[in-house]
Amino acid sequence: MEAAHDRGDGTRGHGDGTRAVRAGLPEPRPYEPTLPGPVFAAHFHLPGEPVGPYTYGRDENPTWTLLERAVAELEAPGDSTVESVVFASGMAAISSVLFSQLRAGDAVVLPSDGYQALPLVREQLEAYGIEVRTAPTGGDAQLAVLDGAKLLWLETPSNPALDVCDIRRMAAAARAAGALVAVDNTLATPLGQRPLALGADFSVASDTKGMTGHGDILLGHVACRDAGLIAGVRRWRKIVGAIPGPMEAWLAHRSLATLQLRTERQCANALALAEALATRDDVTGLRYPGLPGDPSHTVAAGQMRRFGTVVSFVLKDQKRAERFLEALRLVDDATSFGGVRSTAERRGRWGGDAVPPGFIRFSVGAEDPDDLVEDVLRALDVAAGHG
Ligand SMILES: *Cc1c(COP(=O)(O)O)cnc(C)c1O
Repeated sequence: MEAAHDRGDGTRGHGDGTRAVRAGLPEPRPYEPTLPGPVFAAHFHLPGEPVGPYTYGRDENPTWTLLERAVAELEAPGDSTVESVVFASGMAAISSVLFSQLRAGDAVVLPSDGYQALPLVREQLEAYGIEVRTAPTGGDAQLAVLDGAKLLWLETPSNPALDVCDIRRMAAAARAAGALVAVDNTLATPLGQRPLALGADFSVASDTKGMTGHGDILLGHVACRDAGLIAGVRRWRKIVGAIPGPMEAWLAHRSLATLQLRTERQCANALALAEALATRDDVTGLRYPGLPGDPSHTVAAGQMRRFGTVVSFVLKDQKRAERFLEALRLVDDATSFGGVRSTAERRGRWGGDAVPPGFIRFSVGAEDPDDLVEDVLRALDVAAGHG
């Protein structure tokens, strides 16, 4: 199992589809499966001195090792200096970077419009004596609050408003100010955007979303090129024990094989849906970074290889939005995103996000585009009272 492909050679120079189906696979061995099954072990046989790689189940597990190689290969193809660490959830991955890197007296810059749990994180950081500054994702306001900061946290595209910031520009400014940069890459996935190549120190994601893509696993990861920084992240996982189960890790690795297929189809569907929504006068505030007219399109096109699977828009009011969701037949009213089955929700029902009552976050699945667009347009008609 330890004889995995050197990922520097494994899929270097290949396309995303080839890389996705092969990422992290061990060297073929006669009579062994292509992707070895999950290793269920709280402890491993350990005669003599406790040297690894596998000693106790909270520290390391061979199923994680293969998944971590796969994720690193996707985050930074051909760069064998990049390591990844997998976690039990996206929040565990985010927390591991913040709480392993920041100390009392440090300052951190967080997005003011990012993932809905960030305000909770902020409270906890402040309770530990860390100064938290915030700036919106779009518009470069981060640059004005970087002075003396230890870490700049970006989320681009942002959830749920789909604003985008220029990662190269932010990373250069942070470097000049002596700050580290982390990017929450959940919406883009490594097939949409590679933060480490754009200058970030950490690429972090909730793999609960597009990476695993079936809406049935919680998982997260951190990828990083610096051995010292990633060692701190790995140490944090061991301390808090925010470890993925071997079954989840194995299912995630299995799911990565279809990442390119799913992403390609879902991104194409998202663009088709956004284009159809753009023709409606009952839809306002339409956002999709892949739409040429989107306020984020120019910056997004300069750093994203695919524009993601989430579209957001606003209907007249809460009632109209609820009638729309109720009328959909192919789209479930559910939270989260990135799965093969389309889901949508009225984001304002959670509180916390600064969005209008009729704001819809739409996660575009892998259905046939004509079926999906027809269902959405019909539901808009029903919601408007003429369907
Ligand atoms: C869902 C999400 C998270 C949290 O991930 P979990 O896997 O639910 O812990 C963090 N950041 C973004 C942008 C998300 O969408």
